[in-house]
Amino acid sequence: MPGVTDINQGTIHTVGRPLRVAVVGAGPAGIYAAEALAKQEDVPVAVDLIDRLPTPFGLVRHGIAPDHLKMRALRETLHGTLDHERVRFVGNVEIGVDLTLEELRRHVDAVIYTYGAAGDRKLGIEGEELPGSLAATDVVAWYCGHPDADRVVVEEAIARARDVVVIGVGNVALDVARVLARSPEELQPTDMPQHVLDALAASPVERVTVLGRRGPAQATFTTKELRELEDLTGATVLVDPADLALEPDAEEAMAADRLISRNVTTMRGWVDHVAEPGQVTVRLRFHARPARLVGSDRVTGVEVERTTVDATGKATGTGDVEVIPADLVVRSVGYRGHPLPGLPLDDRSGTVQHQDGRVMRDGTVSPGEYVAGWIKRGPTGVVGTNKHDARETVGSLLADVDAGVLKPAGDEDWVDTLVAAGGHPVLLADWRAIDAAEIALGATHGRARTTLHERESLLAAVRAAAAATEG
Ligand code: NAP
Repeated sequence: MPGVTDINQGTIHTVGRPLRVAVVGAGPAGIYAAEALAKQEDVPVAVDLIDRLPTPFGLVRHGIAPDHLKMRALRETLHGTLDHERVRFVGNVEIGVDLTLEELRRHVDAVIYTYGAAGDRKLGIEGEELPGSLAATDVVAWYCGHPDADRVVVEEAIARARDVVVIGVGNVALDVARVLARSPEELQPTDMPQHVLDALAASPVERVTVLGRRGPAQATFTTKELRELEDLTGATVLVDPADLALEPDAEEAMAADRLISRNVTTMRGWVDHVAEPGQVTVRLRFHARPARLVGSDRVTGVEVERTTVDATGKATGTGDVEVIPADLVVRSVGYRGHPLPGLPLDDRSGTVQHQDGRVMRDGTVSPGEYVAGWIKRGPTGVVGTNKHDARETVGSLLADVDAGVLKPAGDEDWVDTLVAAGGHPVLLADWRAIDAAEIALGATHGRARTTLHERESLLAAVRAAAAATEG
């Protein structure tokens, strides 16, 4: 019989209640972990799915580009887990601020950290901090309506952005380039906040250049996302044939790898494109390594050095330098995890060290602590990658239950304790009120939904629904 170890008694027994698991972070990895726990039959569980925001879905809400309507609809599927009787959504609770990790751990038998990688990687070059240089994470947070987005900084930059340079050739870089190049009509069906639609409609964007420091064979974007660039109604995608010339090793890689082959073939189909007057241009550039951002009081350009790529994929500068004009530079060179107070983070990788999802502290497994998603494996893969990842972690947790290595928590409900201390957790019914308010707000502009982007508006929707119920 699976059980929880009662360290005090030194015996293994079932404690006569469901296993209590807290999942910290209600993005895809957290929801998939909750799903894996809720759907198994071996161990009765009660899962608390915690998020520091009043809303669930993590990057499905605040990361997937708003014009990717089908991918964003994934939240309908993920909602099934929020609705599961063994799962309790608890939003608006920041571990380390509203409740320490230690306090949480006293109240649950196990914790799974799934809080992702919200920070941005740095370029480490001169001029990176100049006004007009933004991290893609900041731009994405802004256009998705994340409550922490810095509207003033992003909107000031967008309002001047005639020449945009996006650094990096991953899917996030393509998301940003595409959203900036889209026409207002194309963005209208999205759930972007209204002020984002207005700012993008008013922005003077004429040229968007997307920079790869290595060759086209090393780009990390996927072909489906690449091809979307040719379907933009108000923009023309351009690529210089010289940038698509492949070294012999890259030719070999292309023959062996379908992704590279499809990407390069797609881009070769664009070399004859000519920008029509009045169209925004989206130009893909390769072998262009950013050396520094140019400008005194704000960014005016990106100095790039031409590179060649060797057989190992390493780029070497040729000394051939040019400056690409830019009013806005978006640095899209990857995400990075941050430490949760009380949880050690490997500084080099920006991830939590683990063994099959079991958290390591000081080189040994820490019983009752687990990790899944980007904070476990780094910022890679698509949303679905997290499903397998979360299952692996939950498998380790259930094996530990079976082996009797978990210490049972106290009996009081931490949410009651938090409320008694003045906290305002947002539960499932509250989230439903937010959901309904966003749909109602969208309807006022003929849209399916408009994202509420301020924490205060989200909580006001909760209070209004509670007042209506009481009245
Ligand atoms: P990514 O795919 O790792 O791309 C990062 C890019 O930054 C690479 O092109 C990399 O080039 C470049 N880079 C890194 N350091 C650089 C430097 N110092 N100077 C210049 N360039 C530099 O990461 P991402 O685009 O942030 O995406 C994160 C994950 O989310 C990926 O798995 C992605 O597929 C996924 N995602 C998927 C979708 C979708 O499915 N539609 C949308 C968005 C994101 P090097 O290769 O040369 O290092």
